[in-house]
Amino acid sequence: MSAFDITGIRQDFPILGRSVRGRPLTYLDNAATSQKPSVVIKALERYYSEQNANVHRGVHLLSEEATTAYEAARASVAKFLGLKEARGCIFVRGATEGINLVAECWGRANLKAGDEILLTQLEHHANIVPWQVIAERTGAKVIVTPVTPRGEVDLVAFKGLLSARTKLVAFAHVSNALGTVNPAAEMTRLAQAAGALVLIDGCQSAAHFKVDVPALGCDFYAFSGHKTFGPTGIGVLWGRPELLDAMPPYQFGGDMIRKVDFAGTTFREAPERFEAGTPDISGAIALGVALEYVMPIQTAAHAHEQRLLAAATERLKAIKGLTIVGEATEKVAVISFNIVGGHPHDIGTLLDADGIAIRTGHHCCMPLMKHYGLSGTARASFAFYNTLEEVDRLADSLEKARKMMA
Ligand code: PLP
Repeated sequence: MSAFDITGIRQDFPILGRSVRGRPLTYLDNAATSQKPSVVIKALERYYSEQNANVHRGVHLLSEEATTAYEAARASVAKFLGLKEARGCIFVRGATEGINLVAECWGRANLKAGDEILLTQLEHHANIVPWQVIAERTGAKVIVTPVTPRGEVDLVAFKGLLSARTKLVAFAHVSNALGTVNPAAEMTRLAQAAGALVLIDGCQSAAHFKVDVPALGCDFYAFSGHKTFGPTGIGVLWGRPELLDAMPPYQFGGDMIRKVDFAGTTFREAPERFEAGTPDISGAIALGVALEYVMPIQTAAHAHEQRLLAAATERLKAIKGLTIVGEATEKVAVISFNIVGGHPHDIGTLLDADGIAIRTGHHCCMPLMKHYGLSGTARASFAFYNTLEEVDRLADSLEKARKMMA
């Protein structure tokens, strides 16, 4: 077996064996959501057929088993993020909920008129709108760091925009629309030196390379399970425990309370503080299984994806009239592009006829598209289970599409 056994890995993902429109499925929409290995699918089934019980509540065996598995999943998350302690890892629905939680709980309690929240031009709407809304409510202001024509954060501008007014800096570790890997540790260091807290949207990084939260040094890190080979409906917000414990909770109910009395109620510390009610138990357990699946292959998977990126970039660049949008020095295997004379949706539809799934449109990054003067792009996003043969299929199909659209 080679260091990275792509044949074996593909067999772990049952959906990759299906055909689409009479062709083998070529799934290149991984930035939207990733596929799930059998171990994850089986973990969901196993939970409901063998373990189903509520967590943290029962004295009976099933509840104990479910609680142990749920908390073991939290420990897997901590390991995945390079953390020694799992307490700061909160199970949420996904990155969107994680970012909203910080905006609502930290923002509402700490922002005031005159404060600034610094974002970047390449953020996903999930890392723009919650800040806009909390800014409107508190009188704070959202400031935007521009990106360079290559699709990299303009670090000189970033430094210039940081000031004593900056209370929070929020940015994507990796751009979903362009694949740019931001210098997250450096941006964090600069922001914290200016006195700001840092939230990193790790939605697109967690699936592509090892994330080391302590090395990044950030204050909050959010990612979605479904983009990281786990189920939909589950994700993680990590926060520094001391920050989380000082934040007022925003959902109230079972499990998050210390003591309830009509005279007044007290709340628990993180993580329970932010996990009111029955959580997505099966989702959390299956996410833990997904992360345990990924961790041993992360380094080899990243190298494989970089080979796919290099091959795909070379083949796509050779297509007449095709322009790649975003050519950062450091990228994950995501390629955004346009073809002269063809709308991105037409490209997507023509590729679909060949069994190739890509994403088209603004990728929830309208401000970034506006910056480039585009209504959208076509985007091929790879995962470690994709192959060089699929890169060829993509390029051949695009060449065919180009001729049809010309
Ligand atoms: N942030 C980034 C960079 C994303 O790519 C996405 C999803 O595409 C999100 C946030 C939101 O993730 P979710 O919809 O899983 O909450």
